[in-house]
Amino acid sequence: MKKVLVAGGGGFIGGWLVKELLSKGYKVFVVDIKPISDWYQVFPEANNASKDLSLLENCTQATLGIDEIYNLAADMGGMGFIENNKAACMLTVLINTHLLMAAKINEVSKFFFSSSACVYNADKQNKTLIEPLKEEDAYPAMPEDGYGWEKLFSERMCRHFYEDYGLETRVARYHNVYGPNGTWEGGREKAPAALSRKVAEAKLAKTNTINIWGDGEQTRSFTYIKDCIEGTIKLMDSKVREPVNIGSDEMVSINGLTKIIEEIAGIALNPIYDVSAPKGVRGRNSDNTKVLKLLNWQPKISLKEGLTETYLWIEQEVNKKLKFKN
Ligand code: NAD
Repeated sequence: MKKVLVAGGGGFIGGWLVKELLSKGYKVFVVDIKPISDWYQVFPEANNASKDLSLLENCTQATLGIDEIYNLAADMGGMGFIENNKAACMLTVLINTHLLMAAKINEVSKFFFSSSACVYNADKQNKTLIEPLKEEDAYPAMPEDGYGWEKLFSERMCRHFYEDYGLETRVARYHNVYGPNGTWEGGREKAPAALSRKVAEAKLAKTNTINIWGDGEQTRSFTYIKDCIEGTIKLMDSKVREPVNIGSDEMVSINGLTKIIEEIAGIALNPIYDVSAPKGVRGRNSDNTKVLKLLNWQPKISLKEGLTETYLWIEQEVNKKLKFKN
């Protein structure tokens, strides 16, 4: 039975990945810095531990006897977090460095790294209607300050661990992953979760406005968690050593995204724009030509479908919290 470590498995993507790997019959080891009671999903059939993977000794211990590592551990969040916590985002380099070193020491056969669309050159993302980003658009390098530089550096380290030590590495550049069982409040949430929460709160409080960061014209594409997990495992099981986009190419503006969520909730709200809030790049979309060719994979779940699942889960969470308060 293959022994797999999911680093950061107490988080959003990690939790869904653990679920899928268990269903495939793997022996799964999960490590996250948070106490297990704070994990989004906990599976008793996995081997669960709360440990800080920025420390080399914890990485060597956690990777002993492991065949494959999926590294999803990072100190990260949406734009509101990464624009204001650049040093913390860059310190995540310790997790990736120490996990790679531990993988080499313990002769792990494969290593997956969760990179991001934030590695792409900012000059290619300065308009709302941009060309979708191809893998080669990461160079010449001008990634998102802090978070994006750490991702690009760690991608590069994965490449050199293969070239110099023969460790098989796989790198996915995720584009805005969303879905249930993830961060929806507290300052680290991303746009789909933040907007779903605001819509649900307005619906329950019977108010008619919604606060939107920026002018709402900025564009993005959003990847539903089930597509992300399928693409991730497909990449890990492939022979593809170069970074590839794991993202949707269904581009939408933030105003458009908000309207879809309002439709799902069955309400219409008046936007109030906060142009001083963190906004990120002006436009971003994923070019899936390479990943389709190399992995014969592309996302299947439409934005409307994925948002419906996400919104309903977040509305439930908002409701639970309100009931608890009263
Ligand atoms: P998440 O914050 O829900 O999960 C990350 C987990 O890592 C958290 O549970 C956190 O406690 C854990 N962690 C942080 N520091 C740790 C440490 N020192 N030791 C052990 N665990 C530690 O985030 P996510 O959305 O699940 O993202 C997973 C990965 O995918 C991250 O590398 C992230 O940068 C990348 N990514 C995510 C998205 C997205 O849209 N969600 C987009 C691009 C890239």
